[in-house]
Amino acid sequence: MSKPIAYSVKAYSAVSAQSPLAATTISRRQPTESDVQIDILYCGVCHSDLHFVRNEWHFTQYPAVPGHEIVGRVKAVGGAVKKIKVGDMVGVGCLVDSCRTCPDCLAGLEQFCAGTVMTYGSVEKYLGTPTLGGYSQSIVVTEDFVLRIPANLNPAAVAPLLCAGITTYSPLRHWKVGPGQKVGIVGLGGLGHMGVKFAHAFGAHVVLFTTSPGKTADALRLGAHEVVLSKDEAQMAAQAGSFDFILDAVSATHDLNAYFNLLKRDGNLVLVGAPEKPLSVAAFPLIMRRRSFSGSLIGGLPETQEMLDFCGQHNITSDVEMIRMDQINEAYERMLKSDVKYRFVIDLASLK
Ligand code: NAP
Ligand code: ZN
Ligand code: ZN
Repeated sequence: MSKPIAYSVKAYSAVSAQSPLAATTISRRQPTESDVQIDILYCGVCHSDLHFVRNEWHFTQYPAVPGHEIVGRVKAVGGAVKKIKVGDMVGVGCLVDSCRTCPDCLAGLEQFCAGTVMTYGSVEKYLGTPTLGGYSQSIVVTEDFVLRIPANLNPAAVAPLLCAGITTYSPLRHWKVGPGQKVGIVGLGGLGHMGVKFAHAFGAHVVLFTTSPGKTADALRLGAHEVVLSKDEAQMAAQAGSFDFILDAVSATHDLNAYFNLLKRDGNLVLVGAPEKPLSVAAFPLIMRRRSFSGSLIGGLPETQEMLDFCGQHNITSDVEMIRMDQINEAYERMLKSDVKYRFVIDLASLK
């Protein structure tokens, strides 16, 4: 089969783990029958982008173009596309395709499919090249992986919902967080601030754990009922054995055992953060109170659309700091210092 014709778009890429992101030109496939071609307006900056660009997960191929919190306007659609039309405001998250036939895909849990195609870091099915993300002017995605954006929401502030939003919404829903439960969110970054908003919206008593004393007022404004400074042993001890559920969204090495001790009997700590280095787990905090330790990965397409619709109904978006494309390297340094309120979003109009 001959490769479909490609077209060129501007993008930002890194050529090695040590190099900054810089302007480049990349190829996208021309839309096939089932494809949607999207002019990208906004792309959120996830800490996963930084882990990936710097090869902290040890599978990055270069040049690497990150970005999986994409919002844009549909420029063209293939002849077989049914639900999306030219001019629609749409979203693309971490996934751009999957096998469609395995039990995970049939359950709408495409994130767990062995044949899933990630927005970056996978292989482009048609061109055979690495997939390239949303730090670019345009992307082509098969219709079934394109999401509808509620019309009442600010599209720039919707972009982070495509990863930070679904990654926190999904475990809170899966483990049925709701009224009467005490829920901890660890880390007030891109994921954490969405975790606070969703846990609050689901009716739980929300406690935010932070290493940054300066974030206390924001955490309360975002929906936390209490804020605990995790480096303060007395504040931590006062919360011992009291949590039903804790969602850990920290990007770096930290002490999990301190959080296991805060769970009730049968409580569950769910890790969504993906630090570069392994975290150590002590046996006793888990076995003494039959506590659980779980993980969760983004969410499938049906649940991502459900999350977006929920946000439309409840007027929930991300708190964003808009940046130009050429500010991305500075934004990464600020993200490493936990200095972002609470998600950077690139205005792709700046990529001229
Ligand atoms: P982020 O915006 O940089 O937020 C991370 C937060 O973690 C920081 O704001 C900070 O919160 C806290 N933190 C940072 N360094 C710390 C340290 N050394 N000790 C304790 N706390 C620390 O990152 P993000 O975009 O939310 O992503 C968070 C993690 O989730 C990343 O590892 C990312 O790759 C991963 N992720 C996973 C999934 C998934 O599907 N499982 C999806 C997306 C992202 P405070 O200032 O409040 O302490
Ligand atoms: Zn992400
Ligand atoms: Zn599958």
